[in-house]
Amino acid sequence: MAAPMLNIATARERVLHSAAPLETEDVPVGEALGRVLAEELRAAHDVPGFANSAMDGFAVRSGKADRDLLVVGESRAGRPAEFPLGYGEAIRISTGAMLPDGADAVLQQELVDDRGERITLLDEVAPGRNVREPGEDLRAGDHVLGAGTRLGPASLGVAVNAGRATLRCARRPRVAVLATGDELRPPGTELGPGQVHDSNRITLTALAEREGAIVVLARDVPDHTDATRRAIGEALELADVVVLSGGVSVGPHDHVKPALAELGVEERFWRVALRPGKPTWFGARGRTLVFGLPGNPVSAMVTFLLFVRPALAALQWAEPPAGGRAILGERILCHPDRDECVRVRLEDGRAFATGPQGSHVLRSMALADALVVIPRGEGRALAAGTEVELIAV
Ligand code: AMP
Ligand code: MG
Repeated sequence: MAAPMLNIATARERVLHSAAPLETEDVPVGEALGRVLAEELRAAHDVPGFANSAMDGFAVRSGKADRDLLVVGESRAGRPAEFPLGYGEAIRISTGAMLPDGADAVLQQELVDDRGERITLLDEVAPGRNVREPGEDLRAGDHVLGAGTRLGPASLGVAVNAGRATLRCARRPRVAVLATGDELRPPGTELGPGQVHDSNRITLTALAEREGAIVVLARDVPDHTDATRRAIGEALELADVVVLSGGVSVGPHDHVKPALAELGVEERFWRVALRPGKPTWFGARGRTLVFGLPGNPVSAMVTFLLFVRPALAALQWAEPPAGGRAILGERILCHPDRDECVRVRLEDGRAFATGPQGSHVLRSMALADALVVIPRGEGRALAAGTEVELIAV
């Protein structure tokens, strides 16, 4: 009897068990968007590094309103005043400019009667008014970002403020995408009888790139023993992760599994109690991971999201993106013996299936905001209103 099918969580554990983090490298901060930080980042110094003005106005000593002061100089952004503030004096100041010694507050321009050489303060001035103190944003030594952070625009800016020009990041995983099938034709070509456009090469490449991978090879492979073995052999030389689509089943034209065995790729699992995506294969040769995903376009994408994405994240020291939660907007029947990944659209926190869910109906993915896993159960259904976990698409 065939081995029992794995459930999704066990299959994913096996993948993660094989996905050791890659080496790290220093990346210029301007090139690190989307990369994953592989260090604990601390601030090298206080930010701001000096007391400065939050307003355009006048640096003064705190005190009562209606004071008449002599304007003795100016502090501009990047060009502080050259002398301290004395009694009865004010210094013109710009936003972000350094607060002169002797001043403890700033009164904004709008609350000053400005006559050039002399001014009158039209409001009482409390100590610290309109002053940004050193370290209000970051203190020297503060923990700023943790290893595993996917670097977005704000993280990059904070890293610059923390004093950094480069960041230690995980190396980007190299991915090879091989789409098998004699029926496959490139995008835009006219189709002969029985032919289909090769969408998996495009979707799987895009999914890999979105997870931070470099796709070093993406091609079609005919359903032929030697061609399959040669293509996989080449991919294994180039890539950290080989993603195959199709040809992994047990039909007479499915050459992937024998080729993998011949090339010394060791099977870690085959078949998952999942719909769509039952015929999913995973193995490894040394540190190189190999995924044999089903050819049906939805199955290929769903199994990438469930198994390949966590692997790419782990290789980069990261976690896959969190999906959040929602409630079902409609009743959904359970499949008797496989957990089902239903493509849903979200409306006000409620999840609705995106129409026909066949594994060849790629539109159901294109319309989806998320996936929901509906647990298996003979004769069961999840009622509308059931809280469910979402998987980001
Ligand atoms: P297979 O897993 O090779 O048996 O393929 C299952 C189904 O997926 C068949 O209908 C294939 O035509 C289709 N298919 C396989 N590979 C692709 C691909 N790269 N793009 C679109 N459809 C595909
Ligand atoms: Mg095929």
